[in-house]
Amino acid sequence: MLNPKAATTELLQTPHSSNEILCIKGVRRGFSKAQEDLLVLDDVNLTLREGEIVGLLGRSGSGKSTLLRIIAGLIQPTDGHVDYLGKPLSGPAEGVAMVFQTFALFPWLTVLQNVEAGLEAQGVGANERRQRALAAIDLIGLDGFENAYPRELSGGMRQRVGFARALVVDPTLLLMDEPFSALDVLTAETLRTDLLDLWTQGRLPIKSVLIVTHNIEEAVFMCDRILVLSSNPGKVIAEIQVPFKHPRNRLDPAFRGLVDDIYAKMTARRTGEIARKEGLELSSRLPEVSTNLMAGLIETLAVPPYNGRADMPEIARSLHLEVDDLFPIAEVLQHLGFAEMREGDIFLTPQARTFAEFGTQERKMMFAEHLLRNVPLAARIKKVLDERPGHRAPRVRFEQELEDFLSDNAAEETLDAVINWGRYGEVFSYNDQSEIFSLADVEA
Ligand code: ADP
Ligand code: MG
Repeated sequence: MLNPKAATTELLQTPHSSNEILCIKGVRRGFSKAQEDLLVLDDVNLTLREGEIVGLLGRSGSGKSTLLRIIAGLIQPTDGHVDYLGKPLSGPAEGVAMVFQTFALFPWLTVLQNVEAGLEAQGVGANERRQRALAAIDLIGLDGFENAYPRELSGGMRQRVGFARALVVDPTLLLMDEPFSALDVLTAETLRTDLLDLWTQGRLPIKSVLIVTHNIEEAVFMCDRILVLSSNPGKVIAEIQVPFKHPRNRLDPAFRGLVDDIYAKMTARRTGEIARKEGLELSSRLPEVSTNLMAGLIETLAVPPYNGRADMPEIARSLHLEVDDLFPIAEVLQHLGFAEMREGDIFLTPQARTFAEFGTQERKMMFAEHLLRNVPLAARIKKVLDERPGHRAPRVRFEQELEDFLSDNAAEETLDAVINWGRYGEVFSYNDQSEIFSLADVEA
């Protein structure tokens, strides 16, 4: 323990007897946008208990960071309750520390100063600050780097500073927002293992850890319990106990089986969502997926050993894709009528099999046809261009329409996606400088 005093004071301050560290009930959060409310989190319930590492698993944009910011007291929920150590949370609470994906270090401060900065805010005296910072630096394996600046450190070492800065305040609850996702594979694994070793050896003052991730394997590797968050809006749709002891072996069949189960849960849910919606609407949010990736996945699936059908976790592993990479590609293929997802499997449609046989020009024509039939935004852009005398229209015209329904970022991403697909299918052209759509060059 970094500061033996902390635990005793805390016991005195928190007389409630349960082992609940955090309890969230019915949390909703929207972001206001003109008259519309964009609902990001809806009826989120979760409880963190002493002694556990809990994973919050969800795709990009599902509201994971928003939920973490609510728990950290940085923003408030629109609705619902957050209790920390038995009391309603109001603003940033002492004993809650956060580790960020992007490290969030002060570039002009040394490692030691960065770690001390957390304590300065709490009004800890200079001597104690120094002592505790050095202890945290030592604990996390940064010994000897006290006087280095962040720019002199590798990504892995920078994130160790991120951890030291969180640990130095003797947190009760540690929140981590995709802390390993900016690191290369080996560095990430080393950091995970080091952190788990400290945790299992009881060398951390922390009582509970909440880690946000989009990586299923990471969640199964680290967590005692995994909560799966759906997207649009974010809601906890599954809770999975991980029964394995640390250290865990990723190649263990039981480990692999659980990873597969979670994949199936996530795809089953998404297929249901899509089926209910019966196709896209004009304002549906679309992920930017390149036509190269789409064609690549179709080609891979069309030939042996898959022959048109594959287990999602298996194809993800063989192509070295994570959930966040594979799901959007599969989803767009599904929207375009080239694939279907069912219970953790992906199937090619007969059209996709034909696509795989075609040469470049035939592929473009087929893609254009599927795009115009299945993506209303593409059809709308084409229609406007057809009807206008000069066959030209500015981007801003469509962006504004989308922004009535989507956040600015989502509107931009959706339009960029459709621009790339329309260009590939030669449905329209688009000039990046002037930001103008036109039919020039496409109907030669
Ligand atoms: P995740 O961390 O799971 O990727 P986020 O919590 O960052 O997701 O974002 C969830 C959704 O909320 C996204 O669609 C994002 O655009 C939107 N969002 C997040 N913060 C804001 C904000 N301050 N204003 C408007 N929309 C926001
Ligand atoms: Mg996030």
